[in-house]
Amino acid sequence: MGRKDRERFLRLKESNPYYQGFRGSATATVAAPPPQPVTESVTCSVCNRRRNVNVENLPEDRSEYVCLRCQDEQAP
Ligand SMILES: [Zn+2]
Repeated sequence: MGRKDRERFLRLKESNPYYQGFRGSATATVAAPPPQPVTESVTCSVCNRRRNVNVENLPEDRSEYVCLRCQDEQAP
């Protein structure tokens, strides 16, 4: 790209922030990394095994945590 063309391109971009169109912003969205699940190591109150659990599935009181396996066994 020549110097003249580049200057013209920059001027176009400045006068119109959407010069790159939706394609530009869509690419930026796709490039964002997916959020990592936050896990915590908790001991199950029933079987006393340590489990890595997504914090979203944890009770406020960690000592009340029952792992999925024990929850299954307790299910009626
Ligand atoms: Zn358990």
